[in-house]
Amino acid sequence: MLLKEEREQVVEYGKQLLERNLSVGTFGNISIYNEKENLFAISPSGMDYYKTTPEDVVICTPEGEKVEGTAKPSSELDMHRIFYQKRPEIKAVVHTHSRYAVTLATMGKSIPPMHYLIAYSGREVPCTPYKTIGSYELAEAAYETMGDNYACLLGNHGLLACAGNISYAMDIAEQIEFVANIYYNTLLAGGPKMLKDEDIDVVLEAFKTYRQR
Ligand code: 13P
Ligand code: ZN
Repeated sequence: MLLKEEREQVVEYGKQLLERNLSVGTFGNISIYNEKENLFAISPSGMDYYKTTPEDVVICTPEGEKVEGTAKPSSELDMHRIFYQKRPEIKAVVHTHSRYAVTLATMGKSIPPMHYLIAYSGREVPCTPYKTIGSYELAEAAYETMGDNYACLLGNHGLLACAGNISYAMDIAEQIEFVANIYYNTLLAGGPKMLKDEDIDVVLEAFKTYRQR
């Protein structure tokens, strides 16, 4: 079986998408890239996260060819593989439908630097225009809109987060959902006080060594 460890992680983190309140039902998806094999493991489309087994996880090339697995891969395959093709530092991609991120995405609103945790993504969390789910246009819009950040909102749809490993990609998705919640609250209460570029510079530097390694 190819990428056994990555398959097991896709199953484990899929359950976490629901446990951490980051998605609803079978929506959202996860992939993990193995640089040595130049392959990635991706969650199957529309499958109950609690019923998904490592055998259901699908193995694909960054060019989008399926090399192992009987299930249909996530319909957002292109939105995952485009990051493995174009950003070599990315080794895991997580797509969520978490509530406050979706709320802002449905308003077409990017998240500005109004809380220091935005630095989990970068300087902001930009929002793409609406594109059809599962389309290559959505994949391109996500890649282009994200720029050199690590998360973006998908217009009228959800959130995309990526990182050098799956644990960190999930943390980004979770922290950006928290920031989206706070931003939404502040909008209702008259708007946030923004941070300055220099404030974000300091946090970006601090986050390089924040997590225990
Ligand atoms: P899949 O179940 O095909 O991964 O799709 C879920 C989703 O969130 C589509 O955007
Ligand atoms: Zn989705």
